[in-house]
Amino acid sequence: MKNTKYVFVTGGVTSSLGKGIIAASLAKLLQERGYSVTIQKLDPYINIDPGTLNPYEHGECYVTDDGAETDLDLGHYERFLNIPTSQANNVTTGRIYQSVIDKERKGAFLGKTVQVIPHITNEIKERIQILGKTGDYDVVITEIGGTVGDIESLPYVESVRQLLWELGDKNAIVVHLTLIPFLAAAGELKTKPTQHSVKMLMQSGVNPDILVCRSEHEISDSIKRKLALFCNVKKEDVISSLDADTIYDVPNLMFDEGLDKVVLDKLDLCDNDQPKLVEWNHFLSKHKNPKNKVKIGLIGKYVELHDAYKSISEAFIHAGAANEVKVKIVWIHSEDLTLENVPQKLKNLDGILVAPGFGNRGTEGKVDAVRFAREHQIPFLGICLGMQMAVIEYARNVLNIEGAGSLEMDETCKNPVINLMEDQKDITEMGGTMRLGAWDCQITEDSKVFNAYKRTLISERHRHRYEFNNQYLKNLEGSGMKITGTNPKTGLVEIVELENHPWFVAVQYHPEYKSTVLNPHPLFVDFIKASLDFSTQK
Ligand code: GLN
Repeated sequence: MKNTKYVFVTGGVTSSLGKGIIAASLAKLLQERGYSVTIQKLDPYINIDPGTLNPYEHGECYVTDDGAETDLDLGHYERFLNIPTSQANNVTTGRIYQSVIDKERKGAFLGKTVQVIPHITNEIKERIQILGKTGDYDVVITEIGGTVGDIESLPYVESVRQLLWELGDKNAIVVHLTLIPFLAAAGELKTKPTQHSVKMLMQSGVNPDILVCRSEHEISDSIKRKLALFCNVKKEDVISSLDADTIYDVPNLMFDEGLDKVVLDKLDLCDNDQPKLVEWNHFLSKHKNPKNKVKIGLIGKYVELHDAYKSISEAFIHAGAANEVKVKIVWIHSEDLTLENVPQKLKNLDGILVAPGFGNRGTEGKVDAVRFAREHQIPFLGICLGMQMAVIEYARNVLNIEGAGSLEMDETCKNPVINLMEDQKDITEMGGTMRLGAWDCQITEDSKVFNAYKRTLISERHRHRYEFNNQYLKNLEGSGMKITGTNPKTGLVEIVELENHPWFVAVQYHPEYKSTVLNPHPLFVDFIKASLDFSTQK
């Protein structure tokens, strides 16, 4: 049973400063020193989880092994730390209120008036401590979403204030992330926004222990001294965080700045084992010194916002490094594709990925892209909806099944090769009701996926309501499309491949969620390898 210490990460001045990356980098450094660490994200919005959110709002919805639909920052935590997260790692205001209201309906508050303080703050404090109380972690890092001063962040900051007091000195600290803007006209870095945001935090009764200051320019000693003086911290507790070439540089940058050291010192933890980041830096050096380059077309309907495909683009970075290749993603809007313009738009690609998605918009463009990849022997990876589009394309254009389609796009579809799953048919609520989380998949040995995974039983994460319609299994028999992965219990088709094609794999699950820096996903690694082969043979 470990005596868990807590680090709270708050943000000031603006959003999008990269609290998630700072939290993950600090966690990585502590992990390298031998501490067991996990990271939690508190999101102040009222949705129960991001599962019902349009990806244009906050980017992709990340799915954990236990089937939680979570904020994309959890993806960063897993990619950095190489350990799985779970529902307990992401809490929203919606979830907090739902649980308090459920308790109220059960009479759990014994006639008391239910209020933000203490009932909501107690629930928040409980959620923060759930991971710590497992006894598995030396340090739990809790990232508070949003910006200090937002109305919706107030109960969280108040909960942090109470916990700091309850847990006592050396057991809990606050790292406040802010921005030091550069005023070009004055030629100066400005500290005032940071002073104001720290004041705001202090008005809520919370003193930051450490300031991490994002900046485009070097923060001089004199600026650090000024920040320290006005923000009530020591000069060595002012850490500068300059813009980096890649997020994967940040652990090294934070180490150079001594962030992990001041954190350990404040938590009274010993700082013996210096983080070596051996494997991490090995990855970085391969990432930064590619020997080749491949161009992969990512066909999706949310491509204007790259964060909507965060785990996919990061998986490409991991797989690129593994192959010592720079992966250039060409973002292609599926709504812009037609059978006529596909050759022009896709002809220079070394690989094509058709992305996950929901609903009708842009699906015909995805089918056209699949066809081009199939007919021109271009390495192809279809993920979730991308797999369903690959099946539809094959059914229509090779098996000549008239009107082949998905019931998701057309309820009156004549030949629904993609069908609503049986256990989804009676579901009326949208949130958290898809087939979610990790499920087993049995792989056949004579397949591309077996070559990639080198195993016959895998477990991958899912997020879908529709599936391959097994009534059409007989149509595939003896054709060039092979089913090479199924769920061992239900027979649900998880993977299809094409025989007479260098690399055409489409999967019902999301391999991207499990790719990490130290464990690049085998399917992505193999896909990039095939794309590299294709590019050199062109
Ligand atoms: N919309 C499809 C389904 O629900 C695919 C989902 C996805 O791509 N994640 O089955």
